[in-house]
Order: sequence, then structure tokens, then C-alpha cells
Amino acid sequence: MLLISCPNCGPRDETEFHYGGQAHVAYPESPNDLTDREWAEYLFYRENTKGTFAERWVHSTGCRQWFNMLRDTVSYEIHSIYGMGQPRPDIKSTGQSSEPTQPGEFTQAGEFGQAGEPGLAPGAASPTATTPISSEGV
Ligand SMILES: [Zn+2]
Repeated sequence: MLLISCPNCGPRDETEFHYGGQAHVAYPESPNDLTDREWAEYLFYRENTKGTFAERWVHSTGCRQWFNMLRDTVSYEIHSIYGMGQPRPDIKSTGQSSEPTQPGEFTQAGEFGQAGEPGLAPGAASPTATTPISSEGV
């Protein structure tokens, strides 16, 4: 059981909160200009980080406010809690792998996904487990 410190209410039990997925996924500037594949990547492709991960949470049975949290997905240790509009804080991680996943054929995803986000620069991001859509072998 996690004890989560809501920025407004203080420490509360995990059952008062709901998980909101990966943080810092920016809405595309021109969604109508995206291909179906780019739109699908925005909607469905998320990092699957082993280690420190920035995620959104909402205090659903309390103040109902959203906030961001840096949490270790292995140890469940909460490193930082910060506001929705704030950049991801720099923290020194101990459990994080030193080998980032190469972007592969989907390098365009970074244009609307994480551009301008400090701490999520290409090559410095946490390993991801995104699987490209493929029709091969079907
Ligand atoms: Zn709250």
C-alpha cells in the first residue's frame, strides 16, 4: 500500500487516488495534420519504464486535483510529487538502467510527444518497451 502525499491534502492512503498514466505526453499542436499512425502513437504508445517513471495521479476521493509523481516502478519508492504544469524534476536514480532504447523507426513520435520536456531528452530517456505496429508475420 502506497502512502501518497497529495499536494493539497497531505499524506493519504493509495485507495483515495487513481492512476492517470504517463505524465508529460503533450497534445499534438496540429492533430488534423497527423497521419493515422502518428495519432495512434499519441493515443496509445506509452513508455513502460523499469525504474523512475513520471506519471499522473488524481486525488479522486479527496480534492479531485491532478498532480505528477516520480515513482520507481520496481521499488514503488516515490521520489517527487509536483504540479501538472511543472517540468519533471531531476533526481538521481539508483535503479534505472543505463541503456536507453533507440527510437527506431518511430522517431517522429518525439516531435509531439516529449519535445521541450527537460529530463526527457532523446538518449536520456528511460528504456521503453513500445512495440512497433507490424503487419509482418500475420
Ligand atoms: Zn488532495
